[in-house]
Amino acid sequence: MEMPNLQTLRPVASVARVARWRSEFPVLGERVHGHALAYLDNAATTQKPQTVIDAVARFYCHDNANVHRGVHAMSQRATDAFEAARTRIQAFLRAASAAEVIFVRGATEAINLVAQSYARPRLAPGDEILVSAMEHHSNIVPWQQVCRQTGAILKVVPINDAGEFCFPEYERLLGARTRLVAIAHVSNALGSVTDIGRVIALAHAAGVAVLVDGAQAIAHLPVDVRALDCDFYVFSGHKCFGPTGIGVLFGKRELLEAMPPWQAGGDMVRTVSFDRTEYLPIPHKFEAGTPDICGAIGLGAAVDFVSAIGLDAMAAHEQQLLEHATARMARIPGVRIIGTARHKASILSFVMEGVHPHDIGSILDREGIAIRTGHHCAMPAMEHFGLPGGTARASFAFYNTLEEIDQLSEAVRRVRELFQ
Ligand code: PMP
Repeated sequence: MEMPNLQTLRPVASVARVARWRSEFPVLGERVHGHALAYLDNAATTQKPQTVIDAVARFYCHDNANVHRGVHAMSQRATDAFEAARTRIQAFLRAASAAEVIFVRGATEAINLVAQSYARPRLAPGDEILVSAMEHHSNIVPWQQVCRQTGAILKVVPINDAGEFCFPEYERLLGARTRLVAIAHVSNALGSVTDIGRVIALAHAAGVAVLVDGAQAIAHLPVDVRALDCDFYVFSGHKCFGPTGIGVLFGKRELLEAMPPWQAGGDMVRTVSFDRTEYLPIPHKFEAGTPDICGAIGLGAAVDFVSAIGLDAMAAHEQQLLEHATARMARIPGVRIIGTARHKASILSFVMEGVHPHDIGSILDREGIAIRTGHHCAMPAMEHFGLPGGTARASFAFYNTLEEIDQLSEAVRRVRELFQ
């Protein structure tokens, strides 16, 4: 990544605007160990704006009932709110139909659903699934499991030393036996943004479907599933300012319709007898049991909130934070930035010579700075860089400030001095 010239950096979002954004998030006013909280662990989970908290509280105070079952008014209100959330998410992803939006627990569950319901029936021994070397464990282990179940083989597209997806290797690996490609839009460990439009176009030219793990992209980049022509796109609500326990599987209608249900039970059937059971159409076919009604409503409020600010404005501010942080950290002796892709989202992984990442994290915590340390559930990526202890990772959201980045870099500089 090119080093920015600090002299030319000008705030893209005004200080007042960022302060307004921050004021929507009650938790950002917390104090930790006597310091104002600098929350720089947004890749693990994001904070929740008041509108999301209010939507959740409003549901339980005024509308709570089970969905899709009751003739009574409360059940109707709950169903309307739940289905309205689905429509909001459809619009947010630019999906053609709300039926293509399946509510799940999160990115992990969505990937498991596709592995078991799309991939498993299509895989024969010797068939191949492609992932990259920088995937989150959630986008590795479900594929390993389905490979074990079917005799298929998991192939890995390598990354280069900047942490970029290697397209020439990908093209070589895409072959007659490839049945599915599963790739992260943004790497949680390195911040690399992969050109998934290109990944998808190449896969489709070979007749192969693509699942995009959008867990780290959804709150940072505008996503248009139709323009991308992706077959499956998955994300978790909690990484997009929504509640935990709710996430989304987007799938193309024709694929979802052809897939068998993954879990079975109530709410996904039209008729049941001991001879024959008839399933409901999508999306309900994939939503057995009582869903996380309130979570979905909270996520609907979260995507409204994101749309009102605009992902372009958020991304522009975050790029500035990343550039500032990269320039500041690169100047600290002994610090090495891990993940220097040309196109990065707001994630900065680093190591410090002679200091374990956990020690960096613990010392920063004493100053109220929350970062993550370890392998970030991406052990193969850590292995690529020869870092079994992992990295320290600061990850930014649009509500972070240049001052927080300065706090971070000054604290890291003090860690350096402490260990010298
Ligand atoms: N993929 C990526 C790239 C992630 O960063 C994460 C969460 N760290 C996941 C998948 C899994 O998300 P969840 O735990 O919310 O299901």
